[in-house]
Amino acid sequence: MLTKQATLDTLNTLLKADQIVLDHDKLYDAAADRYKKYAKFKNQLDSPIPTAIVLPESAEDVAKILTFCNENDVNVIARSGKTATEGGLENWRDNTLVVDSARLNKIIKIDTYNMEATVQAGVCLQTLEDEVRKLGFTTGHSPQSKPVAQYGGLVATRSIGQFSTLYGGIEDMVVGLECVFPNGHISRIKNVPRRAGGPDIRHVVIGNEGTLCFITEVTVKLFTYYPENNRFIGHLIKDVASGIKILRDVMAAGYRPSVARVYSEEDAAQHFSDFHEGKCILIFMLEGPSKIVEATFDGINDIINTHQSGLLKQVDASLIENWFNHLNWSQARIEKEIDDMVKYSKHDGFTTEISANWEDIPKIYDSVIKRIRTEFARSEDLTMLGGHSSHSYINGTNMYFVYNYNINCEPRDEMSTYHHPIQRIIVEETLKFGGSMCHHHGIGKYRNEWTKDEHGSAYYILEGLKKTFDPNGIMNFGCIYPQPNTEHFFK
Ligand SMILES: Cc1cc2nc3c(=O)[nH]c(=O)nc-3n(C[C@H](O)[C@H](O)[C@H](O)COP(=O)(O)OP(=O)(O)OC[C@H]3O[C@@H](n4cnc5c(N)ncnc54)[C@H](O)[C@@H]3O)c2cc1C
Repeated sequence: MLTKQATLDTLNTLLKADQIVLDHDKLYDAAADRYKKYAKFKNQLDSPIPTAIVLPESAEDVAKILTFCNENDVNVIARSGKTATEGGLENWRDNTLVVDSARLNKIIKIDTYNMEATVQAGVCLQTLEDEVRKLGFTTGHSPQSKPVAQYGGLVATRSIGQFSTLYGGIEDMVVGLECVFPNGHISRIKNVPRRAGGPDIRHVVIGNEGTLCFITEVTVKLFTYYPENNRFIGHLIKDVASGIKILRDVMAAGYRPSVARVYSEEDAAQHFSDFHEGKCILIFMLEGPSKIVEATFDGINDIINTHQSGLLKQVDASLIENWFNHLNWSQARIEKEIDDMVKYSKHDGFTTEISANWEDIPKIYDSVIKRIRTEFARSEDLTMLGGHSSHSYINGTNMYFVYNYNINCEPRDEMSTYHHPIQRIIVEETLKFGGSMCHHHGIGKYRNEWTKDEHGSAYYILEGLKKTFDPNGIMNFGCIYPQPNTEHFFK
């Protein structure tokens, strides 16, 4: 295996000096993502410090870097906006290069006639959204990390936004893309409305979490933006199950609100403190051309009214609208959250997002809550446990479990004491009912122990992709694919 010094010596022949970052604080920051944020800021990280952060300026630069790493067993962690939540950016090998998309930051083309925009991997979603809004369009993509997340990461994690029920997840938006494989091969998947030229190869790349290739360029769809037509609906409701039934009927009837959500009492309390009255909340947002919005508004209200036994009180629509306008997380808000936690509160919040069909989602919700309340060893430290459904489909929905706790252990043990045991219960119950343990944050490194259970006999396909495209295993070691002798990172 190449030494770190030998790695740097070769890198200097491949790239300009200012494309290689060796600053210690930046390398320490690059050793982990938000998953171990508390340990990280308390200087208790157990992950190795990467050898360097490199800043490619073209797909050809990426090809040079990856070829070198592939031939010399150097681990590669692709990085974009750094908002990963599942350990996808955490480093598990000694000799690692973090390949950052920062200089791949150009909007290449906004084509409003063909309703497409092409960007490099390091373009922040908010930047593209601001540009297309000036022209009367939207990307339709709005994860809460929109002000920070970049296209490389958004595609690599199969991200989803708040308006997904109308526009879909990123997989419904990506038209074509460019990516680089470990052997240096650059593939360009062309931009067409649809094709039947074999399996859809975009899906090999979308969601690969940097384990198969590095994404350099993405083309996404554009949609006409009609903010003046937005309508909001809100109700206090009896319980989660009643809300899920309403969501199901709305989706099954064929309506497509942009937002359709149900919050448990506990989760409603932290989002809607002004008006939740200790109850669960059902909300809808409708957008699009006015005739569609008005018909959707009437249709959804008709369906809601058939569920009188689950309804408690209508909520003023302006309160829901105001809440939506303050939902996204800026870089400053992300930093303040960490600062508050490290300096003052010793209190953290975590989430696990799963999906299942309409019938099983309420069962999973109830079993999970019951098991956590009865089995979780540190239940006295839990300050909040609940969840919400926020992305619905014709055949089912997601559940975003949310849990907060006081940290009464060493920072380095936080995840193994609190988050991971809770997540284990959520994953076990979801898989037991046949759902997916991972709806939109990606598997990262800390759900990899369940990747095989998630896919069952279809793991064969996932494994085949790794063997074909990354036979030397240099791409994001430990991410998605379980690896032997990595148990110590879970402790
Ligand atoms: C406050 C907050 C709110 C969030 N809200 C949402 C939400 O609403 N919906 C949602 O889906 N997610 C959400 N997330 C999770 C996160 O924002 C998404 O997973 C996002 O897509 C990550 O993008 P990024 O640019 O920050 O990627 P990074 O964090 O840099 O990387 C994420 C993963 O993608 C890989 N990767 C990065 N760039 C590339 C590349 N160029 N080529 C190949 N692989 C690459 C990395 O190796 C890593 O595994 C949230 C996170 C935070 C912190």
